[in-house]
Amino acid sequence: MSKSEQLFAEAQQYIPGGVNSPVRAFRAVGGTPLFIQRAEGAYLYDADGKRYIDYVQSWGPMVLGHAHPDVIEAVVEQAQSGLSFGAPTELETELAEELCRLWPNMDLVRFVNSGTEATMSAIRLARGYTGRDKIVKFEGCYHGHSDSLLVKAGSGALTMGVPSSPGVPASLADHTITLSYNDADGVRKCFDEIGDQIACIIVEPVAGNMNCIPPLPGFLETLREVCDQHGALLILDEVMTGFRVSLTGAQGHYGIEADITTLGKVIGGGMPVGAFGGKREIMEKIAPLGPIYQAGTLSGNPVAMVAGLETLRLVQEPGLYEELTAKTDRLVEGVLAAAREAGIPLTANKAGSMFGFFFTEEPQVSNYQQVMACDTERFNRFFHGMLEEGVYLAPASYEAGFMSAAHSDEDIEQTIAAARRVFARLA
Ligand code: PLP
Repeated sequence: MSKSEQLFAEAQQYIPGGVNSPVRAFRAVGGTPLFIQRAEGAYLYDADGKRYIDYVQSWGPMVLGHAHPDVIEAVVEQAQSGLSFGAPTELETELAEELCRLWPNMDLVRFVNSGTEATMSAIRLARGYTGRDKIVKFEGCYHGHSDSLLVKAGSGALTMGVPSSPGVPASLADHTITLSYNDADGVRKCFDEIGDQIACIIVEPVAGNMNCIPPLPGFLETLREVCDQHGALLILDEVMTGFRVSLTGAQGHYGIEADITTLGKVIGGGMPVGAFGGKREIMEKIAPLGPIYQAGTLSGNPVAMVAGLETLRLVQEPGLYEELTAKTDRLVEGVLAAAREAGIPLTANKAGSMFGFFFTEEPQVSNYQQVMACDTERFNRFFHGMLEEGVYLAPASYEAGFMSAAHSDEDIEQTIAAARRVFARLA
């Protein structure tokens, strides 16, 4: 029995399913989740001491790679001054100022502790600001596990087969309208019918929770247009894409203006942080300036703030995003070529340092139905083959992959060589 198997058995005695987030349980791919002992740069080390090249990167935050020495030093130093005060600190202003300086549509920003809190609060703000109840989201997009947003959701919800969870009151779910990602006509039709009742659209500007689906040309532009026409707000959920697709996320990359932006993952550098921010006149409606309530005991936590500040300082080094994109391109091209050699039909998508592979004959995958039609059985065999080879991919076919600044050319070459061997076995 491996150490991970032993630890998983113990965990299941005290924690539902042995995990604190469902997708970690490996239910989609089968087998035992790796229990991780430590991580450094591009690598994870499991409880048995085996090393893996990691393309999960804690589901996105670790864009610099794991345990970057400067981030760790900042965290350790700050921890010595106290872990939480429940009172304002200068550090919060510094991180907020940095976000407002870098992101063109952010005049004010509020910190929370997770992406879920960020999107949940952004939805409340949009409803409070517009005085409307209905929200529009897209099938297969995941915005965390708050009630209004856990309707036809992606990520673990999709993997577990509960995209719409029991426990979400039908009366609340009725206010969530779910449309097809990348279907601009569907969005126009919906707004033509009930546009005056819609508070906001919330969208992942690159969908990263049904594998990786970039927006088709014109899709995000249509969302902006209908929101403007009908007095609804556009919430770009950049929890995953922020500081990942580019320094200014997907909105910088695709040139789309958000009314409210949600952030998380990278801005906490691996610590629990989320944020929502946007135009002044909207953000001023939040308490204590306005009547829309939102709060948090640990929000703006000093240790989390310094991890974020140090990470954002480092990602602004010239050329970092160009290098991340080039490395992602090299990995994706190499794996596609290896699949072709083995005669395995494979399609890929990428956006900045996010990528996704699809076991399908389709030359392009751009919506939820196409994702669902992919060969998950073959993905699962590929996943386990790669794991044996020492490459850690997300343990479900509905998740995006992530490159980090710490991945070397050699890591990428080793990954492609591993994929070639695994494809040969699958063919
Ligand atoms: N929004 C998006 C786009 C996400 O990818 C996620 C998590 O993966 C969330 C929101 C929720 O963030 P968290 O898991 O920190 O609550």
